[in-house]
Amino acid sequence: MTDQNASHSSSAVHHQAEQLSTQLIHHGYTPPSEFQAPQPGVFKASTVFFPNVAAMRQREWKDKSAYTYGTHGTPTTFTLEERLCALEGGTHCVLTPSGLSAISVVSFTNLKTGDHVLIPDNAYGPNKVLAEGELKAFGISHTYYDAMNPADLAAKIQSNTRLVWLEAPGSLSMEFPDLIEMVRICKARSVLTALDNTWGAGIAFKPFKLLDDNELSVDFTIHALTKYPSGGGDVLMGSVMTRDDTLGLKMKLTHMRLGLCVGANDVESVLRSLPTMPLRYAAQDHIARALGQWWQDQAACVQVLHPALPGSPGHQHWKNLCATQGGMGQAAGLFSVMLDSRLSQDKVDAFCDGLSLFKIGYSWGGPVSLVVPYRLETVRSSWPSEVKKGHLVRFSTGFENVHDLIEDLSKSAQRHLIF
Ligand SMILES: *Cc1c(COP(=O)(O)O)cnc(C)c1O
Repeated sequence: MTDQNASHSSSAVHHQAEQLSTQLIHHGYTPPSEFQAPQPGVFKASTVFFPNVAAMRQREWKDKSAYTYGTHGTPTTFTLEERLCALEGGTHCVLTPSGLSAISVVSFTNLKTGDHVLIPDNAYGPNKVLAEGELKAFGISHTYYDAMNPADLAAKIQSNTRLVWLEAPGSLSMEFPDLIEMVRICKARSVLTALDNTWGAGIAFKPFKLLDDNELSVDFTIHALTKYPSGGGDVLMGSVMTRDDTLGLKMKLTHMRLGLCVGANDVESVLRSLPTMPLRYAAQDHIARALGQWWQDQAACVQVLHPALPGSPGHQHWKNLCATQGGMGQAAGLFSVMLDSRLSQDKVDAFCDGLSLFKIGYSWGGPVSLVVPYRLETVRSSWPSEVKKGHLVRFSTGFENVHDLIEDLSKSAQRHLIF
């Protein structure tokens, strides 16, 4: 082969590749209109095409009537947002890269310099850390209130209090608050309410319709879709939802300005898992109650903290909300135990290390059962008198066989939880 031939053939190859590229890019694909399948199609885009400049100038993303750019939503993200609204009863929803970023969207949507926010003392920890960090730096003050004492909440509402965070139950200490009474107090004082409803998952109770016979509702919910909606322990995502059009638009603008968006493949995973969520929720509920009952009979355990078990703090509030107001008496597969304070921390840690089916790790709602020992001082600054203090260990149940899980607990407890 001469040099000339070599260069000729290389440019021919180049030309052919360009032609192929053009053919592949402009292949006559149109999305299927008559293709019915269990899962919605997955649409991925940063760029969205407009038929002409006039259409580009006219299109409006805020009301979801059109597509303009990937960060403003795709058919895939809109589908998940709409399904989450259908599940929980909201009308506006945005997706965020994590549950924590959903919390930040609510705070940044509603709070400005000089405002005050109330956070439950037993709140999901990073919500407090955000208040102590960025919110404080922006001149937004916060106070913690005792979620089990509505009078404490009422007393701590100030003239500049804009927002009250709610959580039912606390995700480590598991006390179930009188959510209905707390929302009533906030409404009466015209303070916005935001519920971290990750535990309820839109299944255990309806936050936008707290009472069967009137319209009492929280203003916002957030979810860590990372937990039940994902169900796989493999996706990080959050959502923010409201029923109010004005708040909904404010939320969308803040969400857009913060540049928050989620990947289509992650949304696909959640869309795939969502239809089985009520079944998974019920299955893990069943396992968690069986394990909680087992713990109640163990000498090393001074208290089981599970809102559906009598004797757990706030059990009556759980019953009122989840077993009467349209609820079916459900609970998430999450509970904590207080182990006898006479046991050393080393023994409690060795008990956790000694488990084989329960893995040591954060989060919940996935297929694998998890355990985490927590230090009391990191969970709450003060404890209600109904809680018998000791070593707090939190369990989240996966889908393992309940007898296998009990055997795992039993073996490690016999070895390590001895006085
Ligand atoms: C996990 C969790 C979050 C945060 O979700 P991430 O996706 O992990 O950021 C928020 N609130 C509660 C109650 C949670 O359990």
